[in-house]
Amino acid sequence: MDISHILNELGEDRQQYFNAVSPPIIQTSNFAFNSFADLRAAFADEMSTYVYSRGVNPTSDMLRKKLAALDEAEDALVFNSGASAIFCAVLANVKSGDHIISIEKPYTWAYRMFDNILTRFGVSTTYIDGTRIENFEAALRPETRIIYLESPNTLTYELQDLAAVAALAKRHNILTIIDNSYCTPLHQKPHAFGIDLSLQSATKYIGGHSDTVAGVLTGSKELIHKIFMEQMLNTGSQLPPFDAWLLLRGLRTLPMRLERITKTTQEVLTYLKQHPRIERVLFPFDEDFPQLELAKKQMSGACGLFTVVLKADSHAQIERFTLALQHFLMAVSWGGHESLILPQAAGMAPEDFDPTIERHRMARIYIGLEDADYLIKDLEQALSEL
Ligand SMILES: *Cc1c(COP(=O)(O)O)cnc(C)c1O
Repeated sequence: MDISHILNELGEDRQQYFNAVSPPIIQTSNFAFNSFADLRAAFADEMSTYVYSRGVNPTSDMLRKKLAALDEAEDALVFNSGASAIFCAVLANVKSGDHIISIEKPYTWAYRMFDNILTRFGVSTTYIDGTRIENFEAALRPETRIIYLESPNTLTYELQDLAAVAALAKRHNILTIIDNSYCTPLHQKPHAFGIDLSLQSATKYIGGHSDTVAGVLTGSKELIHKIFMEQMLNTGSQLPPFDAWLLLRGLRTLPMRLERITKTTQEVLTYLKQHPRIERVLFPFDEDFPQLELAKKQMSGACGLFTVVLKADSHAQIERFTLALQHFLMAVSWGGHESLILPQAAGMAPEDFDPTIERHRMARIYIGLEDADYLIKDLEQALSEL
């Protein structure tokens, strides 16, 4: 399907709302019925009828249609956070005694769910280095129910071979779930490789303006229906209509934002790579990236997120550099208009800093919508503080 059609037309029906070009925010909790038969039919399937906005809502439905089409999936759900998309996708598909294989160091709230919540209900998780398919095979157990992926991750960008993992999982009747936040559906289409469920934090690129927290999950009609009925209605994690509307607006400019950010990121990386205070950069499309070939095979692009290893001897030096930046905000998250920096050292006490540990000298950088020159000048003056 044409991306222009998806982003500008699909799921929209202007004649239903006064030919308004911008779709309405149907800000209602409740929907009324005209007959007993209609009400009965709605109760029989809350996913295909508007009953109550904890279930489906016309504004969020427009968004669901577009996001399913972007991912080349049969259906989609939109959540009030990426974390709730992860929670519902996993919870709906495990029971006591089941086992999960996850890539090591998944997104924080994924591993906290695996380690702090699921263990209380008899579901165990094995973490593996997902860069080698043999590690998935070695971790398999008869009770393995889910393989959980994140490719690439958002600090060191390790990838998993999606086609190989999906094939292995299918042979063993295991469900595959991927966190596709880094690439967005524009740069990686996990279902095309056979992955069952694909999710992303829509807070990042889909929203794109740092004003909404949201999540997306796509997959087959059957899997999505089960998650809607078993988890989403119970947890009340549906995206509210106004937030859905903000994402509809964000989606209109997604391709051009990604295009610009891709270009700016390349320019900034070229600058940083030759800088004497930068030891190395980590980025899936960098020519020195160990999995570059795989990145080219399964991703059509990266995003504005990369990591630099600073040549620094002390915690104070990294703090000085970070705070000298005028146009990179020190903050979590990414995917918005504003450039960001998140040094690993910021999360640790100064006395725990050890310059011989490379990870301690890593800083994650996100490139927003500003001009490349503007950002490079800023990096230049701040690096001179190192
Ligand atoms: C931000 C993020 C999430 C969580 O999404 P929220 O919208 O913040 O709940 C999950 N995975 C990755 C990779 C993220 O960057």
